Amino acid sequence: MAEDPACIFCKILAGEIPCHEIYRDDAVLAFLDIGPLSPGHTLVIPQAHVTTMDALSADQAAAIGGALPRLVEAVQAATGAAGLNVLQNNGAVAGQEVNHLHVHLIPRHDGDGLGFRWKPESYAANEAEAMRDRLRSALA
Ligand code: 5GP
Ligand code: ZN
Repeated sequence: MAEDPACIFCKILAGEIPCHEIYRDDAVLAFLDIGPLSPGHTLVIPQAHVTTMDALSADQAAAIGGALPRLVEAVQAATGAAGLNVLQNNGAVAGQEVNHLHVHLIPRHDGDGLGFRWKPESYAANEAEAMRDRLRSALA
């Protein structure tokens, strides 16, 4: 039975709705995204219902991270992609629509027109140091 009956990815994990499965182990499932940004667009999810990256246990994160190199290699090889974007939308404001953590593997090809709005800014005097200190405090 689905761990969270309201979650579409829990239903996929439980076999209650179909998917095009690529890889499964004790902790991780990888399957084709139903709305691919490019052919071979793959989702990698933890088997446990965890919403966001910050809620993953270290073991769950290690299981996902450990599966990635092989999956990335396979997706690139199978699609002939010259490269690939690894993307995780963490929270609604970041574009997360399915509330079961998932890592996107998006095959990329020359001239495919995909990409992100990437608008680098810069820190004013001392702002980088203040931000570094806030981040270190948050980690402590
Ligand atoms: P998000 O915006 O949450 O990062 O991405 C959610 C992704 O899940 C989307 O790319 C969407 O196409 C995919 N998706 C949503 N529902 C299903 C489904 O039922 N099956 C599969 N395979 N993918 C889904
Ligand atoms: Zn779920």
